[in-house]
Amino acid sequence: MEDLRDKYEVVIGLEVHAQLKTKSKIFAPDGCEFGHEPNSQTSPITLGMPGVLPVLNKEVVNMGILTGLALNCEIPERCKFDRKQYFYPDLPKGYQISQYDEPICVNGYLDVKGKRIGITRAHLEEDAGKLVHAGADGLAGSSYSLVDLNRAGTPLLEIVSEPDMRSSEEARNYMEELRNIVRYIGVCDGNLEEGSMRCDANISIMPKGSKEFGTRAEIKNVNSFSALQRAIEYEIDRQIEIVEDGGQVVQETRLWDDNSRETRSMRGKEDAHDYRYFPEPDLMPLKISREWVQEIKDNMPELPQAKRERYMSLGLSEYDASVIVEQMGLALFFDEVLKTGASAKIAVNFIMGEIAAYLKEEHIEITDTKLTPENLAELISLIEKNTISNNIGKQIIIDMMKEGTKASKIVEDRGLSQISDESAIKEICQKVVDANPEQVEKYKGGKVQLLGFFVGQVMKETKGRANPKAVNDLMKELLDNV
Ligand code: ADP
Ligand code: MG
Repeated sequence: MEDLRDKYEVVIGLEVHAQLKTKSKIFAPDGCEFGHEPNSQTSPITLGMPGVLPVLNKEVVNMGILTGLALNCEIPERCKFDRKQYFYPDLPKGYQISQYDEPICVNGYLDVKGKRIGITRAHLEEDAGKLVHAGADGLAGSSYSLVDLNRAGTPLLEIVSEPDMRSSEEARNYMEELRNIVRYIGVCDGNLEEGSMRCDANISIMPKGSKEFGTRAEIKNVNSFSALQRAIEYEIDRQIEIVEDGGQVVQETRLWDDNSRETRSMRGKEDAHDYRYFPEPDLMPLKISREWVQEIKDNMPELPQAKRERYMSLGLSEYDASVIVEQMGLALFFDEVLKTGASAKIAVNFIMGEIAAYLKEEHIEITDTKLTPENLAELISLIEKNTISNNIGKQIIIDMMKEGTKASKIVEDRGLSQISDESAIKEICQKVVDANPEQVEKYKGGKVQLLGFFVGQVMKETKGRANPKAVNDLMKELLDNV
C-alpha cells in the first residue's frame, strides 16, 4: 500500500459542529446543560407545538461572531436563518432552523503548523434531540426507541473547511487547533467523546499532479482525534484499492466503526435528502453592526497561537509551549503564576512535571486541587533564594496540592530548609568518607566518577537538604586531599 500511496494525492475537508456553551437554547428559554432527566429541559418551543415562535438568543450570535473572528472570517453585515426540512423522530418540528446561503461567518482561515487551511463558512443552527434505542437489553434493533428532547434546540456552530488538507495528520492538527480555539475563547468545551464537538470528514483521492478532485466520501461518527486519523487512513486505503481495481469511488456517507476499525456505507447519493430549504419566516434577517463586531474583537481573549508564541518568548521550547497550551487548565494556571513575577522556567518544570503527572494519575484538573498560583510562586521563590533545593520542592508540591499548605509552612514544620552552611556540610562529607574506605581507595586509584556516589550519600544523609553544589565542591576537595 505504501508505494501505491505515492501515486495519489489525498484531499480532505472537515465539517465540524461545535456546541455553543450558552445557558439557554438558541430559540427557546429552556436550559441546555448536559446530564438532566430526559425531557426535563424542554418547552413548547422545543417540542415544536403549533403557534409558538422562535426568539433568537443574543449570546449565540455573540459566540458565533467571536468564533468567526478567531478563525479570521468576515462577518457579513446581514445573515439569515433558513428551514431545512427532513423527517426524523428526534426533530419535533419536522424541520431544523439553520443558515443556508447567508451564514454568519465566511471566508476565514486557520494557520496550523505552518499550513494555511481555508474556512469556507460557519453557520448557526439548532441541534436535534436524541433517540435512545431501548427494548431488550437496550440494544439497537430492539422493538422500540425512546426520544429525549433535552438536546433539541441546543445551539451549534458548524464550521466548514475548504478541501485544503492533504493528510490525516494535517486534518488532526487542524481539528486539534480548532478545539483549542473554541475552548480558549470559551464558546465550546470541545469534548469529542461527549459529542460537544463533532466532526464529519470528507475524503477523496486523485492521481498525483491532477488538478481535478476525485469523488469524496463523507465519514461520520469519529469521536476522538485518534479515531479521526484512523478513519481517514482507512478511507484512503479503501479508495485507492477501488481505483486500482479499475472501479470508481461513489459519493456517499460512511460511518466509522472504531471497534472494527473500518468505515461502512450509511447512505449513498441516491438517498441524499432534498432538504427544500427556504427562509425561516418566523425570524427576521439579522443585521450585525460593525460596532457590535468591533466590540467583540476588542474583548477577544488570547488565542492559542499567541499564547504559544508568548511562552516561547519566555524561553519555553516550541514543544513545551504546545503541550501546555493543549491543556487549558494548566495554561491558565501557568498564566496566573507568571503574573506574580515567578520564574517561568521553574514554574513550567513543576507544572509539566510533578503537577501534570499527579493530575493524570488522579484524573483531575488543577482546579480540583488546593494548589493556588500564589503558593506555587512562593515555592519557586524559596528555591530561587536557595532556602530549599529543587528536589525538596518536588517532594512537597504534592502535599501542597492535597492540603493547600504554603511551602514555607511545610518547610518550617518539617525542617526542610537547605543546609548551605559549609562547616555543617563538611562534617557530613567527612562522615561519609570515613564510612566508605573501600570506595575512597578506588577513587584515589583513579575512579573519579565515584564522586557522584559520595555526593549521593551526603544527599541521602541530609534527606536532600544539602545544597548540591556546595556538597559537590566540598566533597571533591576532601577526597582529593585524603
Ligand atoms: P455538503 O454540504 O454536501 O456536505 P459541501 O460542498 O458543503 O457539501 O462540502 C462539505 C465538505 O466537503 C467541505 O469541508 C469541503 O471542503 C469538502 N469537500 C468538497 N469536495 C471535496 C473533495 N472532492 N474531496 C474532499 N473533500 C471535499
Ligand atoms: Mg456534508
